[in-house]
Formats: sequence, C-alpha cells, structure tokens
Amino acid sequence: MVAENLMDVERRVCEACRRAGRSRDEVTLIAVSKTKPVEMLEEVYGAGTRYFGENKVQELVDKYEVMPKDIHWQMIGHLQRNKVKYIIDKAELIHSVDSIRLAETIDREAENKGIVANVLLEVNMAREETKFGLMPEEVPDFVRQIAGFQHIKVQGLMTIAPFVSDPEENRKYFANLRKLSVDIGKEKVDNVNMSILSMGMTNDFEIAIEEGATMIRVGTAIFGERNYVQ
Ligand SMILES: *Cc1c(COP(=O)(O)O)cnc(C)c1O
Repeated sequence: MVAENLMDVERRVCEACRRAGRSRDEVTLIAVSKTKPVEMLEEVYGAGTRYFGENKVQELVDKYEVMPKDIHWQMIGHLQRNKVKYIIDKAELIHSVDSIRLAETIDREAENKGIVANVLLEVNMAREETKFGLMPEEVPDFVRQIAGFQHIKVQGLMTIAPFVSDPEENRKYFANLRKLSVDIGKEKVDNVNMSILSMGMTNDFEIAIEEGATMIRVGTAIFGERNYVQ
C-alpha cells in the first residue's frame, strides 16, 4: 500500500514538474517517516526512496541504526541545542536552523567530528506565531552572521507553509521564499549557497514545485495519516 502511495506521489511530482517546465531531477522527494514503523520505511526504501525525513532526534537516530547506510537522512524538525551532537554526523542536511545559538552549537559539534554541516535556514513566511523560523526580513543579516562559521555550509532555505484547505493560498509564501533565496544568492556570501529550496508538504507540494521547490517533504500522502499531530 505504501509503495502504491509512493507511486501516486511520484506521478503527481512528475506532472507538477511538467506543468512548471522543470525537469524531474530538479526536485528531491523526501519521504517524511516520523512516527511510522521501520517496516513501512523498508517498503518505501524497497521502492527506491533514499531520502527520509524525521523531526525528532531520537527517532532519526534509532532508524538510522537499523536502516541501510545509503540513506540521506534529513532532520526537518525543530532542533534543541543539547541534541545536536547525536545527529551531527547522521543527518545529511539540517532543515531547521533559526538561531545563531543553534548555529554555534552545530558549528562546534561539526568541528569536533571534523566535518562541515549542511544546513538550511527555516523561514516563517506566513509569520505564524505558533511556528519556528526566522522572519523573512531577518534572513539577510542572519546569513552574514552565519557566514563566519567555518564548519557550517548554508545550502538554502526552508519553510513550513500554513495548513490551509486551498493550497493556492500558500503559493505566495513559496514564491516569496524563492525571491528571498535569489536575492541572498546574489550577495555571494562566504559559506552560503542558495541552491536548495525545501518547501511543500502533502497538502501543497505541487504548488511548491510550480514555485521552484528543489526539495519537497511528504509524509501523509506516502505513509498515511499519523496518529497524533506533530
Ligand atoms: C510532518 C512534516 C512534514 C510532512 O507533512 P505531511 O503533511 O504529512 O506531508 C513536512 N515537513 C515538516 C517540517 C514536518 O514536520
């Protein structure tokens, strides 16, 4: 069943790419497996998926230990500083950097492991009080500050759009995130590269692709409803 869902999502991704005049290779589909059992991840893995997203450190670590080693793990959830050390060498990309203190911790832990951590800056495009993330106008200054960290490479921006019944309502947020990334990309800041736009979830990934997403994070449409709200 999960494999069929995946095929259906894949077809919708292809159609959205076609509508947008984009190549399918420009968009990475991340299977968001939070709260789901390893057997379901194995099924999706068996169908060819190598990108999995988790939002809790412990869960990512547990699944990392038992799943094949060629998976590109994505940390998509809010990250507490005291937990960075557990995932620094396991998550290929941290999507949720939104404070300098968190960036400092990531930089230090990456240095301890002798690696450079790839991160995205989370931006709260709709200015929702309940969400994490930088306000859009804070991003340019933030980028200049984070450029000083030698063990962090900023690869782009991420946003979680509001939960809406009509996904068209989120188009403006995706378009504005893209504009922000283009503007920042022009500044050519050290250690900052704006090649990734992580935006679009089950309810709105097609619109996000039309607006330039290079990574979409899809949970429910692949794995089914979760038992509790994350
Ligand atoms: C849970 C989650 C998703 C996936 O949400 P669905 O609506 O189930 O596709 C994507 N991004 C983040 C940050 C999440 O926490």
